[in-house]
Amino acid sequence: MEALLKGKSLVLVIPVYNEEKALRANFHEIKRLLAEDGIHPCFHFVDDGSRDGTWQVVSALSSEYEGVTGIKFARNFGKEIALRAGVESVDADLYLTMDSDLQHPPRYIKDMLEVMAREGCDIVDGVKASRGHESFKHRFVAKSFYKVLKSITGLEMDNSSDFKLMNRQVIDALREFHERNLFFRGIVSWVGFKTVKFPFEVDDRTLGETHFSVGRLFLLAMSAILSYTSKPLYLTIFSGILFLLFALIMGIQTLYNFFFGHAISGFSTVILLILITGSMIMLSLGIIGVYIARIYEEIKRRPRYIIERRV
Ligand code: UDP
Ligand code: MG
Repeated sequence: MEALLKGKSLVLVIPVYNEEKALRANFHEIKRLLAEDGIHPCFHFVDDGSRDGTWQVVSALSSEYEGVTGIKFARNFGKEIALRAGVESVDADLYLTMDSDLQHPPRYIKDMLEVMAREGCDIVDGVKASRGHESFKHRFVAKSFYKVLKSITGLEMDNSSDFKLMNRQVIDALREFHERNLFFRGIVSWVGFKTVKFPFEVDDRTLGETHFSVGRLFLLAMSAILSYTSKPLYLTIFSGILFLLFALIMGIQTLYNFFFGHAISGFSTVILLILITGSMIMLSLGIIGVYIARIYEEIKRRPRYIIERRV
């Protein structure tokens, strides 16, 4: 099977956050399954500021096994940034990003490599054929997020995942992104290149629990839309135009009534109008506000992440 890699080096980039209990077992499982397929990759862990003993496990693995490296963030920066830091901080010919919890099943990696070799593509993009056993809430939030994202950005990312195989060229392109806030899946699809979709079945999480609450998913969704597109700003212009038209019609009608003496006490209309325009203005200001906040964050030019340790 080494023929698949044709002497190219493969690194698995795995973000981990508070995975102390599961990490060692999962590492062995991934290693074992891949060895069965004749694949012997390097491992590169990104400890996303875990507060438990995850880093101890990573450093132990790194001293026990060859080809295991890791970096540790000084605090929790989130999975998106962890993935990005991961691919930036290691050199290889092929990069595979995956979760540490076996929900991105290692048994598919061989097929992904085969697809890449056969199709000659730069990205093999894992898409969830089914969403596994997620809670209803989780599924609902994810579904509506992708709907909104698609209608705003035109980006079809339904069932997309961070289970991706990429070659060096793609990673070099990703390194050119200097923004602090980014949505990993978003930029991978933004850079283009020849991409082949690869459907896979999500397995259940083996040990530990998901780190993404509904609130966190919502923030992720907001952040993804904001970092990907400025279209919501144009929405405010559209709603402005709509209200201008409305105002024109109402204005003409009011003047007509005034001049022909039909002007009646129309308090309810006034109240309604004030409420509607008021909320539209607040909404628009809000949208503008979040973008300004983004500009402020970017312009501070803070480091995107802080690496505390390496092994
Ligand atoms: N993760 C991370 N930083 C975080 C949250 C999660 O690096 O702030 C890692 C986590 O350790 C795991 C992967 O991202 O390897 C996926 O997380 P999880 O299984 O909790 O998410 P889900 O599968 O429920 O989407
Ligand atoms: Mg998971």
